Amino acid sequence: MYLAPEKYPFVTDLATLRIPSEEVDPCDPATLELATEMFVTMGQLGVGLAAIQLGVPKRVVVIHPCKIYTPTPVENETFFMANPELLEVSKETSVAVESCLSILALPQDTDTLAPPLLKVEVERPVWAVVRFFDLRAQEVRTLKREGFDARVLQHEIDHIIKPPKLIIDYLPGRKLAAAG
Ligand SMILES: [Zn+2]
Repeated sequence: MYLAPEKYPFVTDLATLRIPSEEVDPCDPATLELATEMFVTMGQLGVGLAAIQLGVPKRVVVIHPCKIYTPTPVENETFFMANPELLEVSKETSVAVESCLSILALPQDTDTLAPPLLKVEVERPVWAVVRFFDLRAQEVRTLKREGFDARVLQHEIDHIIKPPKLIIDYLPGRKLAAAG
């Protein structure tokens, strides 16, 4: 992996994004290195990133909520997660517009640092409980989040479930195709 700040650094081709991510050894120093690389690469461009978005099919997610969306200190935490999984989600759902650093509105234009991203309305549970290995604290943790934070967690975990799920899979046409 490398940083290419003059070019959009994220994987944007669907074939790569559809590759299933494998479980990682959280105690392998390379896993924390990967998470750190992801955190640096994401920078201010996003609030969450899965390793496959850098082309690495491993179950590593970095969450970096931004103060614009999560003004309360407890929610404004950064997590380097290995093997995160959803333990429980609410029955109640909400719909909100999401974008993904890997899904461009104009797929051909990746020469700019921040190309326009596709916006998709996604229905998700309003809260979620996530279990993961915290790579910085070096311990297993369980986290319950609601609202925007819960949405970010579910979006990132979507990237690493089998098969991976992308925001375009939530488009109404896709749902009908899947049902039919
Ligand atoms: Zn995404």
